[in-house]
Amino acid sequence: MEKNKKLIVANWKMNPQTAEEALRLVKNIAGRAARGVELAIAPPFVYLDMVKKNCGREIKLAAQNVHWEERGAFTGEISAPMLKNIGCDYVIIGHSERRYKMGETGEMINLKIKSALRHGLVPILAVGEREKNGDIKKTLAEQLTGALEGVGASEIGRLVIAYEPVWAIGTGVSDTPDHALSAALLIRKIAGGIYGKELTENLPVLYGGSVSGKNTGEFIGQKGIDGALVGGASLEAENFEAVLASAVSGDAE
Ligand code: PEP
Repeated sequence: MEKNKKLIVANWKMNPQTAEEALRLVKNIAGRAARGVELAIAPPFVYLDMVKKNCGREIKLAAQNVHWEERGAFTGEISAPMLKNIGCDYVIIGHSERRYKMGETGEMINLKIKSALRHGLVPILAVGEREKNGDIKKTLAEQLTGALEGVGASEIGRLVIAYEPVWAIGTGVSDTPDHALSAALLIRKIAGGIYGKELTENLPVLYGGSVSGKNTGEFIGQKGIDGALVGGASLEAENFEAVLASAVSGDAE
């Protein structure tokens, strides 16, 4: 992640339906990386190459998933060396849609993190509680310790964490900036318990969950929140432009 910038990641999920629409979207976004903001697009695998070729140099490329093995008999999977080779910088790992809809386990997430790091990709590790009043401390501790098992102290500085309360994803009901900030502090505290405060006090933590042009600035304007993971609002150029405008207005600190 670039120093002194807030990271905005556009997670297109399984959208759009055609390469033409994807090309239109990327052309509308290209050139919009704003001052103080690092921008990354996470399209479906089939559009990665096209997005890379059309997004301009200042926009980074992210994958939405990765397999933990490098090659071989894993029909339907994509490996970290393949993603690196096609020009990816980041890979989202452990998104709740993969955990709860695709049955991804903590062990798989851990293997994916280690493979991404081995091959020079920056993992964006998504964590978050499922229920609004769920046990956030227990959930974050379990998800983080599981995902980071065997990840060395020299590597923790290469990770980005995304705090994504599952109840806020795709619902139009976002978290409050204060609660998201306390979750970001908790994440750094849990990581600090493993690696020590010195290595984790600046661990980048993004917020994700119904981010829009109306609220992005309120989240990322806070010193302890380093950016946003944006789903629905990244699928229309106008909405995404509003997210970026809000990000710039909130990035006052
Ligand atoms: C996401 O899927 O990571 C996400 C944050 O989605 P949305 O912005 O649509 O809530």
